[in-house]
Formats: sequence, C-alpha cells, structure tokens
Amino acid sequence: MDWTPTRDDFTTYMLPNYNPQAVVPVRGEGSRLWDQAGREYIDFAGGIAVNALGHAHPALVEALKTQGETLWHLSNVYANEPALRLARTLVESTFADKAFFCNSGGEANEAALKLARRYAHDHYGEAKDRIVSFCKSFHGRTWFTVSVGGQEKYTQGFGPVPGGIVHGEYNNLDSARELVNDETCAIMVEPFQGEGGVTPGDQAFLEGLRQLADEHNALLIFDEVQCGVGRTGRLYAYMHYGVTPDILTSAKALGGGFPIGAMLTTDKIAEVFVVGTHGSTYGGNPLGAAVAQAAVTTINTPEVLDGVAARHDLFRSELEKINAKYDCFTEIRGLGLLIGAEFNARFGEAGRDTLKAGIDEGVMLLVAGPSVLRFAPSLIIPEADIREGMARLDKAIGRVADALA
Ligand SMILES: *Cc1c(COP(=O)(O)O)cnc(C)c1O
Repeated sequence: MDWTPTRDDFTTYMLPNYNPQAVVPVRGEGSRLWDQAGREYIDFAGGIAVNALGHAHPALVEALKTQGETLWHLSNVYANEPALRLARTLVESTFADKAFFCNSGGEANEAALKLARRYAHDHYGEAKDRIVSFCKSFHGRTWFTVSVGGQEKYTQGFGPVPGGIVHGEYNNLDSARELVNDETCAIMVEPFQGEGGVTPGDQAFLEGLRQLADEHNALLIFDEVQCGVGRTGRLYAYMHYGVTPDILTSAKALGGGFPIGAMLTTDKIAEVFVVGTHGSTYGGNPLGAAVAQAAVTTINTPEVLDGVAARHDLFRSELEKINAKYDCFTEIRGLGLLIGAEFNARFGEAGRDTLKAGIDEGVMLLVAGPSVLRFAPSLIIPEADIREGMARLDKAIGRVADALA
C-alpha cells in the first residue's frame, strides 16, 4: 500500500485506549531515534524499560535474522532448540530450576499466580487461595493480574473482580503482617515498583516478606518484569537484595524488544504444572527465544552490568544540576538505570507537559504517574548521549517552568 500513515490516522483506525505523541518514530539505532520528518531524539524511555540494548543492537539483529531464516514457530507440541537454550541460560544464571515461556509480563504473572494457587491447592487444600499484593503495584492487564495490581482505576467498570485478593501498603511490613495468614497462597510484589512511581523496595520489607511467606507456607512471587534483566546492575533485582523468591517473572528487557515473557521457579513448585494445566500457543517460540537468548547473554556480562552503576551516577548528577537550576524535584530516586524524579508541588502534575516539551527538544521521556519523570534507557547508552539528552531535558524543563511563571 503506497500510503504514509500519520498520527491522525491513529484516531481514525485505532481504539482510543492510548494517546500517543504527535510524532511517529520510524527508525532507531543505539539510544537515538528518528521520526518521519527525519528529526532525531535521544531515547531515555527505552520503550518502557524494554530496549535494554538500545535499538537495532547487532547481536539481536543477528539472532533475529539467523533464526528468521531458520524456524519461526512450532507450537509446544514440539520442543525447540532456542527455547531450551534460553531455559538453560536462565536456570544457570538464577535460583531457578525450571522456566516457562509466554509472550508478555502480564502472561508471566498470570502463570505465576495460577501456579501459586495450584501449588497451594495440591499441597494444602482448597481454602488456601488468598493472594497478598500491594498498593500502587502493577502486574499486567489480564483480568487476574490487573486485579492483583494495586491500582483500582484499572479494574473499575469491568464487572466482578476475582476474589481472594488483598492489598497492603508497599514498604510497610506491618501492613503485610496484618494480611498474610495461613490461607495465603502467595505474596506478589515488585522488589522495585516501576509504574507505581519508581520506588525501590526496602531491604527489611523484602526480607520480612520472605519470612512471612515461609511462616505461612505461602509462595513469594517477585514480579521483575520491569526491574529485571540488568536494570539494577544485577541480572535480577533479587540478587541486589539477596532475597530469593519462589517464583520470578520476567519480560520487557528479556527480549530486548521482541515480545517474550518467562516465569522461573524451583523443581518442587514447578512439579504441580502437570501436562495440560497451563499453556500458550506462541510461548517460547524459536524466534522470540533466539532473540531473548542473545539479549540475556549480552546483558549478563560484567561489561554491561558494571556499566550500569556509572550511568546511574551520571543520570543522578545531571538531574541534580537541573534541579539546582529550576527547583523542580522533591526527590531523585532509584537503582541502576530505573530512575525517578518526582516533581515538587510547584510543578505538580507536569509529567505529560514535560514529555511533550521533551519531544519538542529532541528527547524521549517517560513518566510513572502524573508527577514522576521516569528514566529507563538502554543499559549501554553512551555517556555522550546521556549528556546530550540531559541538555535537551534541561531545555524541556525550562519550557515547562516558563509556562508555570
Ligand atoms: C510492564 C509490567 C507488567 C506487564 O507487562 P506486559 O508485557 O505489558 O504484559 C507487569 N509487571 C510489571 C512490574 C511491569 O512493569
């Protein structure tokens, strides 16, 4: 079809559940993107913590091309080599003994929750079905995962919510203590909340949840969909905290841009998912698994992981300079390359305006709620791109500040 679509065509042809920016990016390389008009942008958003190796990384392109010319899809009626390689890589790099593959974070969490319910059912009986989760958490958009997520606005208006789910306050162990009991089958938590405002879990909170889970024979599920695969400078955030979950979910950066999700667990827990209990048509297809294998093996190296801390420091010091100039943030927080800068009362809910001003200045930004700017760039973003992007962010915030005055 000889036709160049524009942003206006979004409104014509697509459901109104998103409100994309006015420009349409068409090409990316490393941490830079170009739109239809050829304008260049520095990418500080990383496709929401997905493009952990930037755009068009040679190792991922190579894996995609080679596998693309070999075998795309089989279904799980057959085993396939790329999925087995990826499973072995993940098992050998983590606490886990077994992997299950799917296509997204929501699906990985759906599998984790079903596995926890089934494990409790088979070992302790029907009454043990309660799930404890936390306010402001985000676990996906399927009906089960969105209900376990801690943001009511995402479940309103969709009919009856699945039962047996309660929410405590994040980083408040007493609040968790009040909710976890012998009927609890699972505690699901992001060790580092992303969507909810970029809030790292407290060490004592995560250790306390581990203990509570053990005391009540509940499974501890870490949702590492956003904070996993190198984001914190460790392969998974649980390694940073030294608190090991029973089930871990991974997606986003796992495929470096190719949709794939994984659920990892131990032999003992995995055992209850006997043939027929759960599945996916595409999950672990050769194409996705081959790309993910390239992404994980490239990221899980000292070169990439050790570079994350230095980049964190540069992001933080540049943001502090911007804050000194405009007095715009109350707090700059985060770990590794998942960083949040919370606007103060004067800037208020300036997130969306800042995103727009960023586009005008040539930097792609992200928010986590209306008042937190979120940075989730490529883990290998060059220093020069960080500095250039920050110069552009400085101008963008200047525009927002001018509009306030
Ligand atoms: C993005 C995200 C999800 C959902 O992943 P999808 O691939 O969009 O289904 C789940 N949990 C966390 C922590 C996330 O950040």
